[in-house]
Amino acid sequence: MARIEIDKNSGFCFGVVNAIRKAEEELEKSGRLYCLGDIVHNNSEVTRLQEKGLITIDHDTFARLHDVKVLLRAHGEPPETYRIARENRIEIIDATCPVVLQLQRKIKQSYEQSDPEREQIVIYGKRGHAEVNGLVGQTDGHAVVVEGVEDFDRLDFTKKIKLYSQTTKSVEGLQSVVEEITRRSGGEPPEYHDTICRQVANRIPNIRNFAHQHDLILFVCGRKSSNGKVLYEECRQENPNTHLVSDVSEIDAAWLVGRESIGICGATSTPKWLMEEVARYVSESLDGSR
Ligand code: SF4
Repeated sequence: MARIEIDKNSGFCFGVVNAIRKAEEELEKSGRLYCLGDIVHNNSEVTRLQEKGLITIDHDTFARLHDVKVLLRAHGEPPETYRIARENRIEIIDATCPVVLQLQRKIKQSYEQSDPEREQIVIYGKRGHAEVNGLVGQTDGHAVVVEGVEDFDRLDFTKKIKLYSQTTKSVEGLQSVVEEITRRSGGEPPEYHDTICRQVANRIPNIRNFAHQHDLILFVCGRKSSNGKVLYEECRQENPNTHLVSDVSEIDAAWLVGRESIGICGATSTPKWLMEEVARYVSESLDGSR
């Protein structure tokens, strides 16, 4: 029978562990807690916490609430969210990851010290992503977000560029953005800050090594996870027999046929229990008990 291994380096990063711990502590006390946006980009984990009383809300609902407790997830929020909370007497349980918090402060300080006539703050990240919205909020909405070189017509190359990165982008991606800005600025490199979280970047060599050791990789991850996209792509490059599944229902039994070694791994938003569930499912499918 095939060897099945769960990657010991996959699973929640400390930012997500912290947010879930804070949510569970409050849910144990009161049995009810609002969370602004999905606490983690993983539907299975969100459902588990909803069953304990977590209520996921969007920003419109948040603005209508009064006198309740709301958890802010690891991605962080713009200053506007804290202003609404003060006005509506909402008690914030702030689970913003310390890495994101530090980046927000850096961008805020940089913005306050910048001359908008001569300088522009640029964020390399996914437009509309919660973390990026929180970062743009530190600049009163003035920072320009670029997802890649295809967005470069948004930039003013006559101004000095101060470049920051969303924490979950890849180091190579940031490097290529820096190189292209340098090229278009006539060889003048931007002031750039590598603000990529090493919880993601450091997993890349490990996950590539893990993917290399198996015939088949099941990458368990929610489809909204940014770091999941990065890590999945790394696995796929190392091992083309890599499939992204959000839970056991997406596993195609045909993938398992003839495999000698099956690896199960995931993103910083993938709970261990879900990877274990996948491992159990694969094992039962192979021994015919399912
Ligand atoms: S990936 Fe890094 S920045 Fe994002 S929540 Fe995890 S530890 Fe924090």
